[in-house]
Amino acid sequence: MSNIAFIGLGNMGGPMASNLLKAGHAVTVFDLIESSVAALAEEGATGADSAADAVRHADVVVTMLPAASHVKTLYLGDDGIIKASRAGTLFIDSSTIDADTARLVGKAAMDESRLFVDAPVSGGVAGAKAGTLTFIVGGSSESMEQARPVLSDMGKNVFHAGDAGAGQVAKICNNMLLAVLMAGTSEALQLAIDNGLDPKVMSDIMLESSGCNWTLQKYNPCPGVMEGVPSDNDYNGGFMTKLMNKDLNLAMAAAALSESATPMAATAQNLYKFHQNNGHADKDFSSIFRMFNKS
Ligand code: NAD
Repeated sequence: MSNIAFIGLGNMGGPMASNLLKAGHAVTVFDLIESSVAALAEEGATGADSAADAVRHADVVVTMLPAASHVKTLYLGDDGIIKASRAGTLFIDSSTIDADTARLVGKAAMDESRLFVDAPVSGGVAGAKAGTLTFIVGGSSESMEQARPVLSDMGKNVFHAGDAGAGQVAKICNNMLLAVLMAGTSEALQLAIDNGLDPKVMSDIMLESSGCNWTLQKYNPCPGVMEGVPSDNDYNGGFMTKLMNKDLNLAMAAAALSESATPMAATAQNLYKFHQNNGHADKDFSSIFRMFNKS
């Protein structure tokens, strides 16, 4: 059992912290939204009044924040959680951010004799709830091995992608592909509907055919086809369109630096930007289906 501080109790962080409690850890939690702290406190966590208070006695700190700006503000500076923690504390940042920020924050932690890994996740809210997330870790082997038992209490797969920042590089490559697959799957399902097919039947066909992919298996974007996914709940919960756009921006910035050609992602990025600007910023990214839907 470890003393774990968990900061950022949103769609993903809430259920991840809950799984650490179920695994028997002592968990202290903090979020800017008080009701999220209260919900975890009801499950047995200790609610903290600030991020600094949360980390003061922790062996391990997990952070799950929206974007790089939040991570920088939380970790760095005299008021940051690195300075507020004890020497030797292991920091695990599971937010999806750019690799350079992950390396910057990791170095700041190491300069103060703390350990740090970037450990973004794949698997969505359902994976966070079920404890079946995939963690994609960047950092030293020593930090990685210290993080492994805690990560295993929240996920099924733990990959060591490489040194600091490598977890974030792998994660944005994965999400770039996911954005393309979700848009393509929506397009195919709508074409089937427009030509008289039932989207459930079409989904069953593609699941056993060469077009099969994760969005069909776990996250069908067409309402009425799959239960328990955002498309079944007016696209609420899940992975917000604005967060997918953040990840596409990260992927395109990385591609620009390495002079990689990413034409599919460029198209997907424009689609998701249109979609966000048309009132879907806070809806799950699978609501991109609405862009194709004629009804
Ligand atoms: P979210 O917006 O639901 O949750 C983020 C939480 O962080 C919010 O509760 C917010 O109040 C809190 N927060 C922000 N700044 C804070 C601060 N300074 N101190 C304390 N709390 C603070 O987002 P989410 O969907 O949980 O995603 C979190 C991260 O995980 C993002 O980087 C996202 O890209 C990534 N991710 C999300 C999914 C998904 O399906 N939702 C899947 C994989 C990865």
